Amino acid sequence: FNQELQRSEKMEIISELAASVAHEVRNPLQVTRGFLQLISGKSRPEEREYLNLALVELDRASGIITDFLTFAKPESGRTSVLRVLDEFTHIEGILTPLAHLHGSKITVDIPTDLWIRGNSSKFKQALINIVKNSIEAIQEEGMIHIQAYRRNQVIYILIRDNGEGMKEEELVRLGEPYFSNKSKGTGLGLMVTFRIIEAMEGQIQYSSKKGVGTEALITLPAAVS
Ligand code: ADP
Ligand code: MG
Repeated sequence: FNQELQRSEKMEIISELAASVAHEVRNPLQVTRGFLQLISGKSRPEEREYLNLALVELDRASGIITDFLTFAKPESGRTSVLRVLDEFTHIEGILTPLAHLHGSKITVDIPTDLWIRGNSSKFKQALINIVKNSIEAIQEEGMIHIQAYRRNQVIYILIRDNGEGMKEEELVRLGEPYFSNKSKGTGLGLMVTFRIIEAMEGQIQYSSKKGVGTEALITLPAAVS
């Protein structure tokens, strides 16, 4: 018991550190990005090439923070009963501008009385990584539909998009660290998502068809409010 306590205290310290590092590092990255862009506009083509490389690497660093620590908060280890709708409403608010930028729409269809147990920051991180992939997979007239329901003691959460979809050989690699098909991808988003859902004693399954779309199905134990 004593050792367990020490372990959770350690986890708490790590989460706290991660939260403040994420916060402190993101700002200087943004400032640096701004200045690089400024000089890039005034530089010779051969210099611009290096500046663009620097921008790509900066974006990669920001992407890693986004995939791991978007909602990092000091109390990262604690769990509580969460209303599924509230978590998605928060996600929707954050991602809707990005969705619009990519010409797509997010719709949420979740009853108010669905509850699960988990850590809100981590659960939202898991979801944002899924929904962000959907947004990034969409070409035009994108629709991302999020749905949830309960059957017996299980909560089902479905995230469906009409994006570019995946082939079987991509599907089986989801969640593998550094697997990415994007020029600016980290290949860490779904690894983080899968770990968080597993830690919540849930499961996640992807199905997809190239050129048609993708569906992520999360199942989690229902909690009572
Ligand atoms: P990243 O987004 O940084 O590439 P992820 O772990 O989030 O890393 O995703 C890994 C890869 O899985 C993506 O590069 C993409 O090829 C594929 N993928 C994930 N979700 C979708 C989706 N909804 N539609 C199409 N491809 C997807
Ligand atoms: Mg991703």
